[in-house]
Amino acid sequence: PLSPRLFFEAVEQAPSAISITDARATILYANRAFEILTGFSRAEVIGQNEAILSNQATPDNVYQHLWRTIQRKQTWTGTLVNRTKQGGDYLAELIIAPVLDRNNDIKYFLGMHRDVTKLH
Ligand code: FAD
Repeated sequence: PLSPRLFFEAVEQAPSAISITDARATILYANRAFEILTGFSRAEVIGQNEAILSNQATPDNVYQHLWRTIQRKQTWTGTLVNRTKQGGDYLAELIIAPVLDRNNDIKYFLGMHRDVTKLH
């Protein structure tokens, strides 16, 4: 039968790095694939902004477009250069989608990404 546990385990074990943030991108949850890909344990990232993954070289206008899109309650898809805890850069194909509450206000953001370095 469908249960919260089933949903949790499916997200937890999904083969894509998944994180859930508040409306300002503060990380509330990260799954196992996120830990493996980024090199950060969840204890290290929970409470931090997703900017912890930034390689510090992405042009500001890329982030501005990202934020404009998701604040309009739309899904942003794009590729960012991310940096792991160990300092290695990788090409991240991201999907960032708003999670709305009953009043249609942004409650959380859902982030999903995978490493596409080898595909380019
Ligand atoms: P900042 O100087 O803080 O911001 C750069 C620009 O982004 C600013 O000019 C501003 O216009 C805009 N901006 C930043 N925060 C906000 C805000 N709260 N509201 C409106 N506009 C804002 N970034 C990555 O580099 N890699 C990721 O994998 C990644 N995953 C994300 C996943 C989710 C679910 C979300 C919501 C965001 C993610 N981000 C990711 C974006 C991240 O939160 C930062 O905005 C980004 O990394 C820039 O951070 P900064 O401190 O370098 O730059």
